[in-house]
Amino acid sequence: MSKADIVIVGGGIVGCSIAYHLAHTGLAGEVVVIERDASYEHAATPRSNGGIRRLFSLPENIEMASYGLDFYRDFPGQMAVDGEPADIGFRRQGYLFVSDAGGAEQMERNFALQRDMGVDVELLSPSALGSRFPSVSTKGVDLAVLSANDAWIDPHAALLGFRRKARSLGVIFEEAEVQAFVADDTAARFVRCNDGQEIHADIFVNACGAWCAALAATVGLALPVEPMSRESYYLRCEDDLESLPFIKTETDLAFRPEGQGYVGGLPDWTEKPGWNFEVSPRYFEDVVWPALAHRIPAMERIRLERTWRGHYARSALDRSPILGRAGGRLDNLILANGFSGHGIMHAPATGRALSELIVHGAYRSIDLSCFGYARVRRNRPYAEMGIV
Ligand SMILES: Cc1cc2nc3c(=O)[nH]c(=O)nc-3n(C[C@H](O)[C@H](O)[C@H](O)COP(=O)(O)OP(=O)(O)OC[C@H]3O[C@@H](n4cnc5c(N)ncnc54)[C@H](O)[C@@H]3O)c2cc1C
Repeated sequence: MSKADIVIVGGGIVGCSIAYHLAHTGLAGEVVVIERDASYEHAATPRSNGGIRRLFSLPENIEMASYGLDFYRDFPGQMAVDGEPADIGFRRQGYLFVSDAGGAEQMERNFALQRDMGVDVELLSPSALGSRFPSVSTKGVDLAVLSANDAWIDPHAALLGFRRKARSLGVIFEEAEVQAFVADDTAARFVRCNDGQEIHADIFVNACGAWCAALAATVGLALPVEPMSRESYYLRCEDDLESLPFIKTETDLAFRPEGQGYVGGLPDWTEKPGWNFEVSPRYFEDVVWPALAHRIPAMERIRLERTWRGHYARSALDRSPILGRAGGRLDNLILANGFSGHGIMHAPATGRALSELIVHGAYRSIDLSCFGYARVRRNRPYAEMGIV
């Protein structure tokens, strides 16, 4: 049996950001992260697209992503260890949302809020879109919004950067699988690991990505979070295109430049929740490629180089994260779950906010109580409107 002040279960980008932010306060005591697989083979973080954008309808999402954007811009220096910078390939090449399925009014409402919150967004008519990005077809487009200073990063490098920095600040990483949280009538008391260890603590954090619900269930907590398999592609286009932003459309295309090619996907909404790492033999040819070529005609001439799958931790209630105390007798269990497709951009703000909650007993920088578990208990969704 061992004892720590804070135990974080799950050492993906969310768990590592919380660990870093806690250690950075200098007030958290001993922090232990328990991660079962230091290679992160199946974790969502290294399989994601690494996009950071402020194109949201909920003010809290805009605030969180704004913090994330600044944080990742400064990451190499802030996360340097022994003078060695932590390069994460931060690339400020913008985000473009395209309304091509009747959501232009919502897009305009979101645009007004984003602008009022200081995001440098620009509304583009179809003809303005065509002149700005000649390779993008304006067929069926009603409106677009460009957030030119949004960015993307290499998410795996960011995860490793957080981890290395957290370790340098004294955070302990244990390689083990947590099988259960164990609680009594008044609080969560310890975690039981597959290697027989029992680690006691004052505070526990569930940062298990798409695996979070199974672990929460070990103390009778129902988390409406499910794994949703998403197929991703890396492809090369035979033509040279202008410098493109990260493009997302209402018809669900999501692609951005990566190296000499492009990375992204188009979700298959017929896919049932659950674990699926098998790539589909036909989905790219039948669905994704035609959709991509419809929006960017030069994409008729491509070479598909790689296909892989990763899983969203989809928050089934409203696709918004579930953050903060679990409540009741589990008040010392902190949730950092259900990030759906936003966990990379939201990891820094989540780490900062939850470390405030743990160390100071309340949110100080951004009030994230709207994402608390209370809304789940009351079945009150707090959802994004427009492109998610
Ligand atoms: C295809 C795709 C594209 C995406 N694109 C973007 C994007 O552009 N921008 C963005 O912001 N987000 C994006 N996301 C979402 C983002 O990847 C996730 O929200 C984020 O990585 C979640 O981080 P995490 O740390 O919660 O989960 P993970 O990275 O999955 O880490 C969870 C960790 O917990 C560990 N774990 C689980 N159970 C246990 C246990 N019982 N004991 C010990 N360890 C355990 C796992 O091994 C894992 O390492 C995308 C996701 C996918 C799948």
